Amino acid sequence: MTDSEDKKTAQRPVRPCPQCGKLSLEAFYPFCSKRCADVDLNRWLSGSYSVPVVELEPEDLEELARRQEEG
Ligand SMILES: [Zn+2]
Repeated sequence: MTDSEDKKTAQRPVRPCPQCGKLSLEAFYPFCSKRCADVDLNRWLSGSYSVPVVELEPEDLEELARRQEEG
């Protein structure tokens, strides 16, 4: 009945937010929210990790990096 629509949906993979791992929203892709997008932007603007805008343990960062590599 809606085969064509199902295929269209399947062609768009859902990626986890690089910041928090939640499912990303199209409006903020590849992030889940404006907050996470801002966090990433601030990190780039600051040009350094020495002023963290979010509190993440090193283990969490490694986990996020691993998830991104896995896709
Ligand atoms: Zn997020």
